[in-house]
Amino acid sequence: FLKLDKKGKARDELYHLETSYNDMIERLNESIIKQQQFVSDASHELKTPISVITSYAELLERWGHKKPEVIDEASDAISYEAKRMKYLTEQLFILARNDGKSALNYETVDLNTIARDVVRSLAVAYNRNIIFHEHDNAVVSADKEKIHQSLYILVDNACKYSDSEIIVRIHESEEELMISIEDFGEGISKEQQSNIFERFYRIDKARSRETGGSGLGLAIGQAMIKAHGGNITVSSEPAKGSIFTIHLNKSYSNN
Ligand code: ADP
Repeated sequence: FLKLDKKGKARDELYHLETSYNDMIERLNESIIKQQQFVSDASHELKTPISVITSYAELLERWGHKKPEVIDEASDAISYEAKRMKYLTEQLFILARNDGKSALNYETVDLNTIARDVVRSLAVAYNRNIIFHEHDNAVVSADKEKIHQSLYILVDNACKYSDSEIIVRIHESEEELMISIEDFGEGISKEQQSNIFERFYRIDKARSRETGGSGLGLAIGQAMIKAHGGNITVSSEPAKGSIFTIHLNKSYSNN
């Protein structure tokens, strides 16, 4: 009986080992597929500006001398697409650096100060009414630059995808300090809410490109906040608006 019991235990252990090994391989495969998709999406995104630049350069070579009116159109298009490529490569670089737990520069920061800065600069840039509700105690240990960038992405999106007022609010629960950004714009359906944090995902590609978007903003913001042990959540209803919330754990320690 004892012998049988030992055999049974060994079989159980083997079985557990096999399933956890299979799980690990499956996760590895998923991450390889995601990585391949990312490289393919990134090259696709860069191909568009490259082909526009190439066509206009050829047009300039062929007609630049005979038809001077071509020069203005071509140089405008080349400069626009070159800027877009620069922006895209910078975004890709930020994403690569922030994927996973990159080094964070922790310091004591007041979320009120960061939010006030972001709200002020975007209200001017978009000439928009952005209401800001401060919170009495909003001091946390975090990477100031990264919190600033993530919040900037969210308020910038609220400006791009809505056209009435925007409300930025700092609040807290027992465990978390939160910054919410509420807009009353086009909103996001339930199915799309789970996709928007994926790299390069855009609900309306043409609209996003028009507003200078790359589909990388939310992926970058989420990676930066996750590196702090927090996360960004969304609650939204189509045609009503969206609330994006940055959650930072009060007790999160960087040690
Ligand atoms: P983009 O550069 O396209 O803005 P993001 O990663 O920041 O990329 O956002 C991904 C997509 O999520 C956007 O293209 C847009 O379709 C949607 N989105 C983001 N923020 C909002 C918002 N506040 N309201 C409605 N849609 C939004």
